[in-house]
Amino acid sequence: MIAKVAIDLALDRLFTYSVPEEMERKLAVGQLLLVPFGRRTARGFAMEICGGGADALPYTIKPILSIVDETPFFSGRILDLVRKIAAYTASPIESVLKAAVPAAVLRPGAKARELIYVEPAFSFGPVTVTKHQQWLYEQVVRLGGGWLQQLCRELKTTPSTIRTLGSKGLVAVKVRERRRDPLAGRRILSSKPLDLNPEQAEALSTILSSDRPVLLHGITGSGKTEVYLQAIASILASGRGAIVLVPEISLTPQTVQRFVSRFGDGVAVLHSALSDGERYDEWHRIRRGEARVVVGPRSAVFAPVADLGLIVVDEEHETGYKQDEMPRYHARDVAVLRGATEGAKVVLGSATPSLESWRNASIGKYALASMTRRAGSGTPPRSLVVDMSSTSSAGRIYSKELLDAIAVRLDRGEQTILFLNRRGWSRSVTCEKCGHVIECPDCSVPYTYHRADSCCRCHVCGGWAPVPDACPACGAHALAYRGVGTQRAEAALKACFAKARILRMDADSTSRKNSHDDILGAFRRHEADILLGTQMIAKGLDFPNVTLVGVLNADSSLNMPDFRAAERTFQLLAQVSGRAGRAGLPGDALIQTFDPSSPVIRAASNGDYAAFAAAELAERKAAFFPPYSHLACVNLRSEDPKVVSEWACMYARSLMKVPGLSVGEAVPSVLEKAEGRYRWQIVVRAEKAQTIARAWKWLSSARPAPHGLSVALDIDAYSLM
Ligand code: ADP
Ligand code: ZN
Repeated sequence: MIAKVAIDLALDRLFTYSVPEEMERKLAVGQLLLVPFGRRTARGFAMEICGGGADALPYTIKPILSIVDETPFFSGRILDLVRKIAAYTASPIESVLKAAVPAAVLRPGAKARELIYVEPAFSFGPVTVTKHQQWLYEQVVRLGGGWLQQLCRELKTTPSTIRTLGSKGLVAVKVRERRRDPLAGRRILSSKPLDLNPEQAEALSTILSSDRPVLLHGITGSGKTEVYLQAIASILASGRGAIVLVPEISLTPQTVQRFVSRFGDGVAVLHSALSDGERYDEWHRIRRGEARVVVGPRSAVFAPVADLGLIVVDEEHETGYKQDEMPRYHARDVAVLRGATEGAKVVLGSATPSLESWRNASIGKYALASMTRRAGSGTPPRSLVVDMSSTSSAGRIYSKELLDAIAVRLDRGEQTILFLNRRGWSRSVTCEKCGHVIECPDCSVPYTYHRADSCCRCHVCGGWAPVPDACPACGAHALAYRGVGTQRAEAALKACFAKARILRMDADSTSRKNSHDDILGAFRRHEADILLGTQMIAKGLDFPNVTLVGVLNADSSLNMPDFRAAERTFQLLAQVSGRAGRAGLPGDALIQTFDPSSPVIRAASNGDYAAFAAAELAERKAAFFPPYSHLACVNLRSEDPKVVSEWACMYARSLMKVPGLSVGEAVPSVLEKAEGRYRWQIVVRAEKAQTIARAWKWLSSARPAPHGLSVALDIDAYSLM
């Protein structure tokens, strides 16, 4: 027999080894092996095992040295998935294998924690013990056993005294695995299924009866989580397991708690805040089948749940599901693929579905379930759009309407959330007078102002134009590179409300570990009146005392140089305003904009997703953007500006010759230089993602990048920055 092995290096090829006879019966695909590799020993996964002797090969091969762990790390089905993802994303198969198992599990020397455990035993022979030993024995019986160290502490005795009881046969002293439990010490009350309302009941029955993935479109607060919980319960009852994917940012203790309180120890949690030991233990609990429900971020889509019955992707539109380093997979798409290969149901839930999923539902690839009403108490917020180009608000960060509304909340002791989506470096060129944004005539995306050569560029097709003197729409000399950040907004707020307690939450204020939870905790305990922040505060948070949400500048995200800008803006506005009025108190959402007639802002303020999606899909179709095409970005980085531009142009020219591809000019990225490296990009579109991946694989191996230049293909790119 011979085996093909993926070595622990991103070489993008399998190596062939012979299988020693004594290993033949134990060897299985997915196992971790030790193999000779050059002069050293390498670790690798068995990918294929074939019959046929090594003699038949035209070259001599070396034997496998040993099997590290006889239980495979990957099932054959997950290996299939891994192969497909490697091909789809044009990434080495080794990189996908690595992404599919936590590093803490594969680390050499990683193992379970073993401690000494003491259990009462029953001795039948006559045993003589001193009075103290008799007492100790009774205590161990009373406690039903325990960890040696803990017992000694609790009973104020020593290990050797307990061992004496052991030698007399009164207790059994043995080594046992002790789980490193990420939720240890936390008291979580159990919860019972709620009576579903008619919309929820309908959604649940669609999920349980559909053999297609189900898009669960439910407004914020419509009770999607309760539907997930009851779908999982039904899957568990049939003896199968479930995976719940949650965006990392909303993987808070509260979210985890909702699943643990329903399914107890049967839930394994995988997220980035776990210690290595906890992660190791959680992963093995899943592999051994002790945990049948997994809650985690995108990488949990690979969790080794045997007999998988259901995958839930909550907030399926979240861009956090797209990995932005190799392999650049999208966990939602992997979930759909895995569901299909393993016969598991798939639920994609969102208040604002991605246009990809919405279209899949409208062409019948997915089934659709809708929930239009809030399930618990609370009514949807009233929305008000404030025109910032009107004279009373011109030049201000806060409109009079918003200031008045905040003042009312401060008076009443209610809380306010203010949202400002200010992403650092990029600026659009906007007319302060009429709100017009300068756009690329060919692509209908806003131009980006490039400071280096002071011109406007389009990041899709590479077109450019000088900055005009006056606004092309109204003729006013009022063009500006707008942008107010959270810090400036905070200072302005303090100037208006000297006594208000304000918390700011953005990448700067949350760089410390746990500071994210600390800030939200303080706000929940009402230690502040106003929470001001970036998109970090937009999601999944439920604050009962918040009755006002203000969006300071809805245009800043609308004018991002990205064909998804309208979609993101709609999502943000819908999610942000969903924060207001979740409990008994009615809520208001106030949206400040320079462009109150924008269809996106209007649809968002009316909460009309379907209207937004129809209009936006028509534009995407006309411009050959996703979901009507697949769009990939070739990213190039080098310390040498000449190398990066020359190679970018060469790759672009070569790709342009490939039939079926629509290729833009090579352009400097919006973020032209980062960490000392110059960045260029090429945007490539095609009907099929495979056309792009294959062309790039061929080109990058025919013309490999020189030393010092890094190139990477980002298929179905979410960031064009
Ligand atoms: P979503 O995930 O759709 O935003 P949640 O699952 O957080 O909504 O539900 C919003 C609130 O409604 C929660 O407090 C939840 O406990 C409550 N809720 C959900 N379903 C029901 C129901 N059937 N009856 C009563 N309350 C419910
Ligand atoms: Zn263009």
